[in-house]
Amino acid sequence: MRPVVIAANWKMNTTPADAGDLARTMAGRIREPGVERVICPPFVCLAAVRDALSGEDVAVGAQDVHHEAAGAYTGDTSAAMLAGLATWVIIGHSERRRDHAETDERISGKLRRALENGLRPILCVGEQLDDREGGRAEAVVDGQLRGALSGHEPVALANAGLVVAYEPVWAIGTGRNAAGADASAMAEAIRTTADGLGWPDAAETLPVLYGGSVTAANVAEFLTEPAIDGALVGGASLKPDEMAGIVARAGLTANARRQTAAS
Ligand code: PEP
Repeated sequence: MRPVVIAANWKMNTTPADAGDLARTMAGRIREPGVERVICPPFVCLAAVRDALSGEDVAVGAQDVHHEAAGAYTGDTSAAMLAGLATWVIIGHSERRRDHAETDERISGKLRRALENGLRPILCVGEQLDDREGGRAEAVVDGQLRGALSGHEPVALANAGLVVAYEPVWAIGTGRNAAGADASAMAEAIRTTADGLGWPDAAETLPVLYGGSVTAANVAEFLTEPAIDGALVGGASLKPDEMAGIVARAGLTANARRQTAAS
């Protein structure tokens, strides 16, 4: 049974002075044991959030990691530096592809560093609007996956608990969502690609999240799709009321899956 995951991407918001309070408030509102919950604050807030979440079953994730192990990379953060601070890491977010010219090759390197250091990756993929309108969405995402996964043993990625987040770029921070059925079709396409690359039993083992303007009001559209295993949430993840609603809805999906598995 694939896990249900809700990951919060705080992006470049919060400071070390206020992130702990927000994380503590959030944790108190999202106690839903059937759902894997992850908060990804900025690097400089990781320690504050880790401390605030001590005793809570909520994981901490970083928003990026460098593709090299160490060296002359001013301002960057290696996977080894995250030890004790984070157990998950977002890799290949479209804002990093756009603002930091991250290529699929670099993203593949980042995955390697994550695996070497025991970090659980959330690999982001997603098409631009003109790709979707031009009927190329699945081909673009297929290419991103092949690029990111190239040079990796699918079994190692599966054992590391890799999660894919399908995030159509035109839906991120825009208030515009993909249709649940389209996101579901993409989740299936992602597993088909992974299967072709040798992913062990992708249909059963590869979690795929949806991301793109998810809120408490619209998350059900995605979580009622059996192919979708949760959400990567940006803007709404800074609002405890929104996260409480999103995680509560995810809890319904997790319970329904448990019951189906048990019957
Ligand atoms: C994201 O940052 O991954 C994201 C999906 O953002 P938003 O929810 O704000 O669209």
